[in-house]
Amino acid sequence: MRLTVLGSSASFAGPGQACSGYLVEEGGARLLIDAGNGTLSNAAAVTDVTHLDAAFVSHTHVDHFLDLFALQAALRFAPSGPVGSMPLYLPEGLWARMLALLPEHGAQQLREAFQAHTIADGETLKFGPLTVTAHAVDHDGPTFAFTVDGEAGRLVYTADTRIGAAARAAAQGADVLLAECTFEMRYAGRGPHMTPAEAAGLAAESGASLLVLTHIWPTADREQLLADARSAFDGEVLLAEELLTVNIDPIEEAKSEDDLTS
Ligand SMILES: [Zn+2]
Ligand SMILES: [Zn+2]
Repeated sequence: MRLTVLGSSASFAGPGQACSGYLVEEGGARLLIDAGNGTLSNAAAVTDVTHLDAAFVSHTHVDHFLDLFALQAALRFAPSGPVGSMPLYLPEGLWARMLALLPEHGAQQLREAFQAHTIADGETLKFGPLTVTAHAVDHDGPTFAFTVDGEAGRLVYTADTRIGAAARAAAQGADVLLAECTFEMRYAGRGPHMTPAEAAGLAAESGASLLVLTHIWPTADREQLLADARSAFDGEVLLAEELLTVNIDPIEEAKSEDDLTS
């Protein structure tokens, strides 16, 4: 399984950055998770955006879905003709709000581009070798973390969330934890987001070997974020940045089997 960061910024993007978006791929299956402003440009740099198996949106904040409108246009004006009915999984209420922003012909184009489904807590969906499960977390309105299980391990994306029981339940069993850390330490407890130390504690409890910190304000002190996370987690810590890739692959397991038989 391969994760590609399409957008790492929280709320607004800095130079060369984009808001939340991630591409998860394995064995020909390709999933877009969140579609914040700017992510489609980065997605187009690494994949054919008209042939995604599905798109998921974690919650209704604009920095997580605005580029769905751009994706609609990319599907409509694909060189081979309009591509329709990409499965799109959204929290309750968002689809109606998106349609309401558009004039009737625009709303009709959006309906043609996507086959919209409302996400239910605990819902599990399969795309080739990838299994996606939605977990309600504690943010602002309906918000879902996603676990993605592939052949070699589990990626957990926390979405935006405060630390607590819901985030802990979602992160359980992660191999790679992709965790938001919007709040520098001085903002701890002041809203529905995690600090780097909270994200790191979550990684430690989940059993993850790699923590990728994301949803970072462009104005944040990145070195300080890393230091704060490393103080609470012994595993590897990376800061998300646009087009960073992380592989969860079975090579090490295959090697150890070889070792046993040789
Ligand atoms: Zn956000
Ligand atoms: Zn949010």
